Amino acid sequence: MRLLEPAFRHAFNSIVITDADFTDGGPHILAANPAFCAMTGYDEDELIGRNPRILQGPATDPVVIDRLRTAIHAGSYFFGSTVNYRKDGRPYNVEWNISAVREDGQVVAFVSVQQDITARIAAQREHDVFMALGNLLPTPLLVTDAQHRITFANLEFEEATGYTMADLAGKRPDVLYDPAQRGTLFDSAASDLALGREVQRRISLRRKDGNPLYVEQRIIPLGLDRVDTHVSTFTDVSDLVQSEQRWRSMAHTDQLTGALNRRGGDRVLEQLVQRAAAAHTDLAAMMCDIDHFKRVNDTHGHAAGDRVLAAVARALRATLRDGDVVSRHGGEEFLVLVPGANIDVATRLAERLRGAVAAAPDAEVGRVTVSIGVAVLTEGEGPEALVARADAALYDAKEGGRDRVVVAADGTA
Ligand code: GH3
Ligand code: MG
Ligand code: MG
Repeated sequence: MRLLEPAFRHAFNSIVITDADFTDGGPHILAANPAFCAMTGYDEDELIGRNPRILQGPATDPVVIDRLRTAIHAGSYFFGSTVNYRKDGRPYNVEWNISAVREDGQVVAFVSVQQDITARIAAQREHDVFMALGNLLPTPLLVTDAQHRITFANLEFEEATGYTMADLAGKRPDVLYDPAQRGTLFDSAASDLALGREVQRRISLRRKDGNPLYVEQRIIPLGLDRVDTHVSTFTDVSDLVQSEQRWRSMAHTDQLTGALNRRGGDRVLEQLVQRAAAAHTDLAAMMCDIDHFKRVNDTHGHAAGDRVLAAVARALRATLRDGDVVSRHGGEEFLVLVPGANIDVATRLAERLRGAVAAAPDAEVGRVTVSIGVAVLTEGEGPEALVARADAALYDAKEGGRDRVVVAADGTA
């Protein structure tokens, strides 16, 4: 019993004890612990003798207070929550219970344990707003935790993929990926996200019914000290991928390289520029030109030149994804179009294209390199202006010594 007083003083929860005297403005506070004083802003001696109703104010719920009154008059247990007010007038959300203390069957006091739940209520409200917003959004949305386990998929996401939240909760998003790319896609995104970097990429998802779904995915890592949440949005680019496939099947294919020919490339370019402008998405154009190609022809003959051209086209295609477009723009010049790629993504991709070509030497000719000019579509820019900027960057790459990537100056500058 000796520990009772220190336990009361040191309790984490706020505790207040009143008498059971309903006359003379009672019940009256007999004791309040330091946690209660901290929560309410009153000193204990300011509280003693007062009715706890001094904590109530305009936003205090009268229905809850009525229930409290009925319960304590009956000597029964009360549990509830409402808004109370600190001494300085600041409101807080309180959750509390009251138990009657009996001696010889007679209620002689009440003990109330209280907790300030303002932060919890605020978090709950934020969560509710987030859920409502998430489900209102016309964009598929996915949220994962620190371990990349799915914690939220909005209605639009469920509709787009055919999966329900019940299917997805607690799973990693790679269950949605095309099985052939599952591990690679997951790992590449995870390593960037762990460093706090945003990821933007085009991937193919597998719907629950097995059909492919081509999407532009953007993942934003969130967290205070370390990344513990990932928010991911998706734009359906299936029709874009299909239209590229359609262009391919028509009379727009270059026989030697299998890439789109100039005419096909120009038409896709026009379509992609329109689409990017309308949807406010990125579009990168890369002009790739084989270095010293004349020498290849001159030294090894035209047939070797043709073989190198086809090999370069293959290396480009193998590095690109479905929905990216390669066209043979000139003799030994390829135009690569990458919807959804911003400057950073496009620059990294161009470096990978350059590396892929350089890493595949011809048995007879030896090492083949390309120079690449990169430009990303700017507001209001047309297809010709975009390509002209990529061309100018290519020229700079040649001037700079070839076998390199140069990014064009901003078109709006
Ligand atoms: P640079 O590094 O500045 O690009 O030098 P380059 O020699 O590659 O540039 P240039 O544009 O002077 O030469 C391009 C050559 O590509 C000229 C042309 O003979 C050759 N070429 C164009 N089309 C074909 C083709 O279909 N087959 C073959 N074998 N060669 C081609
Ligand atoms: Mg050329
Ligand atoms: Mg050349």
